[in-house]
Amino acid sequence: MLLLLFSCGGSASSVKEGEKSQSAGSGAPAVMEAAVIVPIFDADSAYQFIDRQVAFGPRVPGTAGHKACAEYLVSKFQSYGAEVVTQDVELKAYNGDILPSRNIIAQFQPDKKNRVMLFAHWDTRPWADSDPDESNHYKPLPGANDGGSGVGVLLEIARHLSSVPTEIGVDIILFDAEDYGIHEKDTEQYYSNSTSWALGSQYWAMNPHKTGYSARFGILLDIVGAPGSRFLYEGYSLKYADRVVDKVWRCASSLGYSDYFVREVGGMITDDHYYVNSMRGIPSINIINCDPGSPNGFGPYHHTMKDDMEWIDKASLKAVGQTVLTVVYNEK
Ligand SMILES: [Zn+2]
Repeated sequence: MLLLLFSCGGSASSVKEGEKSQSAGSGAPAVMEAAVIVPIFDADSAYQFIDRQVAFGPRVPGTAGHKACAEYLVSKFQSYGAEVVTQDVELKAYNGDILPSRNIIAQFQPDKKNRVMLFAHWDTRPWADSDPDESNHYKPLPGANDGGSGVGVLLEIARHLSSVPTEIGVDIILFDAEDYGIHEKDTEQYYSNSTSWALGSQYWAMNPHKTGYSARFGILLDIVGAPGSRFLYEGYSLKYADRVVDKVWRCASSLGYSDYFVREVGGMITDDHYYVNSMRGIPSINIINCDPGSPNGFGPYHHTMKDDMEWIDKASLKAVGQTVLTVVYNEK
């Protein structure tokens, strides 16, 4: 296996310092930090994980594609040695639809007290309500970026967690029913009723898989696969977890990904991390590609039938995946 030696926290210089103090013979014990071994994130592998999800068809709660994909995701995590628990629950959408939903929680080294939580939503939107063609506005979209990409990156991370253990415990949580929020055409409610989104994470925040569950911090990956993705400082991430934002953006920069992790403030996005922060109190950030200048605030594929594999770029997956892996492997 190929391994990348890299630290975000400057432990390379710590090693140097340690060596110096040793040779100086000051009498004080030398502090020598070992270089952190971070696996190399394989973007081809992440791409395949996205393609596999898209092949199930739209993952809208209640559909056959949704059910089959859930089984695939659970078995994949199990094959990587995770202890998997699921939360199967019927959630009520804003329009009264009952959504048979499943949150999937993959625990790595579950006995470790210090934990980091990585999360994404795995369901896809039932309506392409931003599509330029109005006849698509009530059709389900493919969800390669919106749904598939965050999960694909997390599956690739899971593959490494199984073979190269981290110092801390890691939980990968895939939330369901994130994207069943108000249809854009219900304009009166669209901007006012924010609680119609992220139903799976709202449920989990009130009913975590372990009583009193907490984590040091959380990182949400949503819409991370588009070519030339730009990840801006998202508003709720800054409000609740500015130190985590700083840690992740610094790490990205040290790896050479400043073109992706841009140091500009973007908008506030109601997404799963909002509820993990506000209802569960775990400082969490959102890595999400947005474009504040566009009509719906995201890329041209967003909530359209174009959200397919054509819009998935391996370089973007690599930037996100390598950054998150490096952050996680540097936690002590
Ligand atoms: Zn969406």
